[in-house]
Amino acid sequence: DLLVVGSANADLVIGVQRRPAAGETVLGSDLVTHPGGKGGNQAVAAARLGARTALLARIGDDAHGRLLLDTQRAAGVDTVGVLVGGAPTGVALITVDPSGDNSIVVSPGANARLTPGDIHAASALLAAATVVSLQLEIPLETVAATVRAVGPGTRVVLNPSPPALLPSDVLAACDPLVANEHEARYLLADHPASEDADPAAWATALLARGSRSVVITLGAAGALVADRRGHVHIPSEPVDAVDTTGAGDAFTGALAWRLGVGDDLESAVRFAVRVGAVAVTRPGAQQSFPTAAEVTAPGE
Ligand code: ADP
Repeated sequence: DLLVVGSANADLVIGVQRRPAAGETVLGSDLVTHPGGKGGNQAVAAARLGARTALLARIGDDAHGRLLLDTQRAAGVDTVGVLVGGAPTGVALITVDPSGDNSIVVSPGANARLTPGDIHAASALLAAATVVSLQLEIPLETVAATVRAVGPGTRVVLNPSPPALLPSDVLAACDPLVANEHEARYLLADHPASEDADPAAWATALLARGSRSVVITLGAAGALVADRRGHVHIPSEPVDAVDTTGAGDAFTGALAWRLGVGDDLESAVRFAVRVGAVAVTRPGAQQSFPTAAEVTAPGE
């Protein structure tokens, strides 16, 4: 089974003609509320593809939390690990201007209250997981506690977003680390490879820092897969992208599922690239994620 340990947010979106300056009020469009958060997105992406998926997360005892629980369950996610209370549900307040640029304020809320103790209390979920997928929208100490609690037979997939420097034992557990260009360069910090234009150089440096394998997502160019034996670029079929929100989460959820059912890393990335390509052709995040039947075979 796939276990996603991470964030769940309500995304509150208002269209505006222009952003308010300090002290100013502007009128906007009707409010649209979407389920989001990287953990919630990954879980929905995997479950919609057919994965047996559980989510370990924390939400508030409020209307946003109930919306998130309902949407996870509707997608088929096991929500027994979704803890309730301690703070309001995490929220992203998003304004979108006519050129499509976003301004976002995130209130982590309950996500910031998911503790190492919560992880230790969920030992049955951890024990049932063949793959555990993590991101960084929950406390880093909770991510580290999860990695340290998983058994040797459980594979760890980690998307370092928003980017933060990882403890060496966490990086050493990643199989793979899944990073976009920005995240890869951030993790390399002062390493000379961060100045390199070649994603293979970032992957090589991240492997040298201890990650067991590395996947660099490259937007329309697909992804690069690397482990100690070498690296391979998996291109994407060209598509008409309308909204890339959540594409990385769809990619990682799909990848984690395929690894859990026994694909090798390269095959799993080939599938995830096709899932990401479908997700960007539709608006929104979770609502854009495909079923397995909607993911076309190569060349179709
Ligand atoms: P993030 O959304 O985390 O920045 P990317 O932009 O690299 O990550 O996108 C993640 C994956 O989604 C890519 O590896 C690719 O498979 C797919 N994807 C993203 N943008 C496009 C695009 N314009 N065309 C086709 N696939 C895309």
